[in-house]
Amino acid sequence: MSPGTEAGADTNTCPRCGARFRCGMEAGDHECWCASLPALPLPDTSGPGSLAAASCFCPLCLHALLLQSEVVRSAAP
Ligand SMILES: [Zn+2]
Repeated sequence: MSPGTEAGADTNTCPRCGARFRCGMEAGDHECWCASLPALPLPDTSGPGSLAAASCFCPLCLHALLLQSEVVRSAAP
């Protein structure tokens, strides 16, 4: 909340890879970039300490997780 905060400054650290990225929700934007992506279907969101407990991933990881989940889904019988 400092007056010197740059617009576009990174707000979050990705829990998966540790990359710094900007979350629109955190930054106070009208909409986060993640809103344009499909919701990530996470099977287990209740486990403490699980990656799923953290809702914000960097763009790269979110894409990777989405791809992964689609692979898993299409590979299932
Ligand atoms: Zn990441």
